[in-house]
Amino acid sequence: MSTDKETRAPGAEQPFWTLAQQQEKTPPCQAGCPNSGDVRGWLGIIAQHEKMGISLEEAYDRAWARLAERNPFPATMGRICPHPCEINCSRAEKDGAVSINAMERFLGDWGLTRRLPLPVVVGPRHTESIGVIGSGPAGLSFAYQMARRGYPVTIYERHEMPGGMLRHAIPDYRLPREVLDAEIQRVLDLDISLQSDVEAGETIPLDELRSRHRMLFLGMGAQAGRRLGIEGEQGSGVMPGIDYLMRRKQKLPTGLGTRVVVVGGGNTALDAARSARRDGADVTVLYRRGLEEMPAERHEVEDAVTEGVRFAFLAAPRRILREGERITGIEVQRMRLGEPDADGRQSPVPIAGDVYMLEADTVLAAVSQDPDWRGFGEAGAGGRWLHTDDEGQLADEIWAGGDDRGPGIASRAIAHGRFAAEAAHARLRGEKPPPRTDAGRVVDPSSIDRDYYVGVARSDKARRPQSQWLTEPESEIDQTLTSEQAFHEATRCMSCGLCFGCQQCFMYCNASGFTRIEEPEPGRYYAMALEACEGCGKCIELCPCGYLETRQGSSW
Ligand SMILES: Cc1cc2nc3c(=O)[nH]c(=O)nc-3n(C[C@H](O)[C@H](O)[C@H](O)COP(=O)(O)OP(=O)(O)OC[C@H]3O[C@@H](n4cnc5c(N)ncnc54)[C@H](O)[C@@H]3O)c2cc1C
Ligand code: SF4
Ligand code: SF4
Ligand code: SF4
Repeated sequence: MSTDKETRAPGAEQPFWTLAQQQEKTPPCQAGCPNSGDVRGWLGIIAQHEKMGISLEEAYDRAWARLAERNPFPATMGRICPHPCEINCSRAEKDGAVSINAMERFLGDWGLTRRLPLPVVVGPRHTESIGVIGSGPAGLSFAYQMARRGYPVTIYERHEMPGGMLRHAIPDYRLPREVLDAEIQRVLDLDISLQSDVEAGETIPLDELRSRHRMLFLGMGAQAGRRLGIEGEQGSGVMPGIDYLMRRKQKLPTGLGTRVVVVGGGNTALDAARSARRDGADVTVLYRRGLEEMPAERHEVEDAVTEGVRFAFLAAPRRILREGERITGIEVQRMRLGEPDADGRQSPVPIAGDVYMLEADTVLAAVSQDPDWRGFGEAGAGGRWLHTDDEGQLADEIWAGGDDRGPGIASRAIAHGRFAAEAAHARLRGEKPPPRTDAGRVVDPSSIDRDYYVGVARSDKARRPQSQWLTEPESEIDQTLTSEQAFHEATRCMSCGLCFGCQQCFMYCNASGFTRIEEPEPGRYYAMALEACEGCGKCIELCPCGYLETRQGSSW
C-alpha cells in the first residue's frame, strides 16, 4: 500500500518515510561554556514563567537553583567569566548576543540576597571520606558536587582563607570579597570541613592523605610565577605579577615603585597593571605580539587605557638595567609577527638592531604561572602540568582538575571539579558515569528562524562613572541588572533547539498532530502523535527554534 507519506529514496529498495519529530539539541551557548552551563534552561524558566503559571520571583528562585546545580558560584562567575558562551549565541547576528554573563550575575546576586540554599541531591548519605587539596574553584566545585551527593569532604588549603586565585589574585574592583565570601561559605555549609594553613605534601605527606581518604582530588592550581629569563632579573624591583597581586590583596607591603613596567598580555598582566595604577604608579605594559593576539579580554584593555595604562605592542624585554641594586630601566626589543607556530599563532620575531629603552623602577613579570609541586616528589608531574583522562582521573582513587592541568579560566576549573566528581561518585556507587552534558548535537544555526523573534536591544551591566574608577579604586565598576532588565533580557533567548511553546506547530498542523501538555514547562508544551504525521513538513518549517526536525527511515 502506498500513502502520501511514502517516498522512495533514490536507489532504495524499501519505502522511505519523511516525518517530523521533536528533538532537543545542545544550544550554542551551552556548547561554548566550559562548564556546559544549562543557559537555555535557566533563561527559559524566567522567560516562560507565565506559561508555567508561576510568579517572576518563583521563576528567579527556580532559575537560580538550575544554574547552581552545575555552578555554585554564579554571582562570582557573573562578574569575572569572560563568557565564551556568548560568542556563538544565535541572537548575536540579529541584535546582539543574549547578556548571559550579566544574567548569571543577576541570578547569583538574587540567590545571595534571598539566602537560597544550594540544591542537594536527595538520597542516602555515604561513608566514603573524600579529601580535596586546594580550595580554588576546581577544589571547591569537586567538594560541592561530592558533598551535595552525601559524602563527607575535607579540604586542605595552604592559605588561611579559601578561594584560590579568586580570593588571592583577582582585584576587588572586579570581584568584591563579600560576594566571594558569601558564595564560598554557602558551599562550606554543606558540612564540608576546611583545614586551613595546611601545606599538603609537607605539613601532611601525600601518603598520609591517601590513607585518611578513600579518594583525593588535587586542585592546586598554578601558583608559581614564571621568570622572564633575562639579564638583570635577579635582585630587588623585579617580581612576579601574581606575587604583587597576592600581597596587595592581603594588604601587605608590595615594594612597588612609581614607574612600573608589566611584561605579559593575559589576565595577570592586566590586573597587575590596573592595580599598579590604583597604587599611583605610571604603568606601561609590554606585550611581544599585537593587540589582536592578546589573550586578555578586549574590554579589560580598553578599561586599562581609560585608567591611563600605556601599552607597547610587539615589544619584548631584553635586559633590565640597574645602577647598583636599583633598577633604572628596561631595554626593549621591537618584534614583528613571523610564521605561525604549532598552535597556529604567529610567533613574534625580533627585528635586528631595533632596541629602545624605557625608564622604570619596578618590573612585574606576568608571563604565565606554573604549578608549585613542593612536597609532592614524583607525584608532582616533574614540575609541570598533570595529565589525567577526560574525566579527570590521574591515578587509582586520585582525581585532578583546574589550573594544575594547564592554565585556564575559572569556569573550566569548576567544570573539571564537576566532571571529576560525577565520575568519582559513579565509580564509588558501581554505576556508569553520566553522559557528559556537552555531548549532545549542537543546533544547526540555519534551523533558527531569527526573523520570527521580535527585535529587542541587549541590556548590558551598568557601570560606575569613569571619573570614580581611580578615586574609589577598590569599588566595583560593573553593576547588576535590575529585575526588569533581567526579565527583559531572558525573553531575548531564542530557546535554540528546545520547544518554548510558541504554538506554531499546534496551530498549523492539518493532521492535528500536536496536543497541549497539561502542566507545561520549558521544552514540554505539546505532545506529538507520530502516527498522525502526514509528512508535509509544515511544522518543521514553522518551528523557529530548530526543535522540530525531519525523521527519515525505511520502517517505523
Ligand atoms: C590575576 C589573575 C586573574 C584572573 N582573572 C580571571 C578572570 O577574570 N576570569 C576567569 O575566569 N579566570 C581568571 N583567572 C584564572 C582563574 O583564576 C583560574 O583559572 C582558577 O582560579 C583556577 O582554579 P584552580 O582551583 O585550579 O586553582 P587556584 O585558583 O589557583 O586554587 C588553587 C588552591 O590550591 C591551594 N594549594 C596549592 N597547593 C597546595 C598545597 N600543597 N596544599 C594546600 N593547598 C594548596 C592554593 O593555595 C589555592 O588556594 C585569573 C587568574 C589570575 C592569576
Ligand atoms: S560560566 Fe561563563 S561561559 Fe559558562 S554560562 Fe556562565 S558566563 Fe557563560
Ligand atoms: S539565543 Fe538563547 S539558547 Fe540560543 S544561544 Fe543564545 S542564549 Fe543560548
Ligand atoms: S513550533 Fe513552537 S510550539 Fe511547536 S515545537 Fe517549535 S517551538 Fe514548540
